[in-house]
Amino acid sequence: MPENLIDDFIARPYPLLLQGVVRHYAWGGERYIPELLGIANPKNRPFAELWMGAHPQSPAQALLPNTTVDLDKLIGVAPEKILGRDSVKRLGPALPYLFKILDARDMLSIQVHPSESQAREGFEREEAAGIPVDAPQRSYKDRYSKPEVHVALTDFWMLNGFRPAQEIAKVLQTVPEFAPLQPAFAGDDLERLYTTVMTLPQQEVDAMLNPLLDRLAGEQPTETENPDYWALKASQSFARPDGRRDRGLLSIYLLNLIRLAPGQGTFQAAGVPHAYLRGINVELMANSDNVLRAGLTPKHIDVPELLKALNFRGEHPQILEGQRLSDIETVFPTPAKEFELCRIDLLTGQNWAIDPDHQAEILIVVSGHVTAESENREMELHRGAILFAPATCALRLVAETTSRCYRARIPKRE
Ligand SMILES: [Zn+2]
Repeated sequence: MPENLIDDFIARPYPLLLQGVVRHYAWGGERYIPELLGIANPKNRPFAELWMGAHPQSPAQALLPNTTVDLDKLIGVAPEKILGRDSVKRLGPALPYLFKILDARDMLSIQVHPSESQAREGFEREEAAGIPVDAPQRSYKDRYSKPEVHVALTDFWMLNGFRPAQEIAKVLQTVPEFAPLQPAFAGDDLERLYTTVMTLPQQEVDAMLNPLLDRLAGEQPTETENPDYWALKASQSFARPDGRRDRGLLSIYLLNLIRLAPGQGTFQAAGVPHAYLRGINVELMANSDNVLRAGLTPKHIDVPELLKALNFRGEHPQILEGQRLSDIETVFPTPAKEFELCRIDLLTGQNWAIDPDHQAEILIVVSGHVTAESENREMELHRGAILFAPATCALRLVAETTSRCYRARIPKRE
C-alpha cells in the first residue's frame, strides 16, 4: 500500500468512491448490474451480485487519489478511525456488514442461517475435526450469524418461512401426490413433517415428485402466485444428471411464496428458511458466510445441522414497507445489531446531510445524479456510484436530478 496516501487518509478520513466486486453466478441476470455500472456485457455473462463491502474474499476497492486499496486492508490500518469507535467496540475491528445488489434471473437454493451460538459451536467443532474451511461438506465458514434484510428494486418472488399449519394441511390434502406425507403432519407437527421430508429415502422422494412433475409438465402452470409454477421451473433448473429429484421441490409448497413490489422487503432472521426465486433487490447482511442449505442445490446438505437451525413456526412473513423519517429518508429497521438499511430520495435541488456522529456507511446511487460534498471536496455521483463514508466525516448530497440512493449503516446503540 502506498504509505503516504494512506497516512493522509488516516489522518483525516474523507468519503471515497468504491469499486464493487461482481459475482458471476450462473443464476444471475445479464443486464441490470452491467447497466447500473455502465459497463458492456457483450458475451451476456450472468451478473448475479455486486458486493459492496470489506469481505476478505471479495473486498471492494477503495479509490484513493491515484491508487486503489482493498477496503478491508484500508480499514485494518485504523479500524477505530474508519469504522468508528462504537462499531469496533461492539462489533470488532472489521466492517460488520456486507451490502449487495442482487439480480436473480433464476432461483437460488433454499437456505437458512444459523444463530450466533450455533455458528460459534459449529465452527469450533468443524475446526477441531480438521475439516478445511473450503471443503464441500463444511457447514460453518465463520463464527457469526448472518441476518439479512433486503428491499426489492423490481417485482420480486421469494420463499420466506414456513406457511401456517392450516395452509400446509390444505396442501397435503389437495395435492394428490403429497398424500403419503399426511401421517407425518398428524397434530400439525411441522418439525416432524419437515424432518420426514428431509430424511425420506430418495426413491420415495422420486415416487412423489415424478408423478407431480409429469402432471405439471402437462398443465404448464403460468401463474407465479402458484407453487406449481415454481416447482416445474425448479425441476428444470435443478435437473440432476441421474434423473433423481431435488427434495427442495417439496419445500416450495411448504414455505410462504411471496411477491414483493418494488420498495417492499423482508428480514431473514436466524432459523427462517428462504429462497430468492426471481427479481432484483438491494440486500444488506452481517459479514458472514454461514449458509445451511435445504434444497434446490447440487451442493452438500447437512440435514442434522439444518434441522437444528430451523425455526419451525408456521406464519405469514412480515413485509417491510419502510418507515419514512422525512420526505427524504426511509429506514427499514430490523433487530440486527450489525446493520441498518435506509433509502434516500431526493428531488432536483434537494439536499441531505449525514448525521455528524455516524459510523462507517456505504451508499449506492441507484438512479439519478447527485453531488457529494465533504469539507473542501466535491464528487459527482452518477447512477451506480458507490460511496464509502468513514466514521464522523462530513457528507452532504445535493441532487442534480431526481435521485434515489440506498444506504448501509451501523445502527446506533440503544
Ligand atoms: Zn440468505
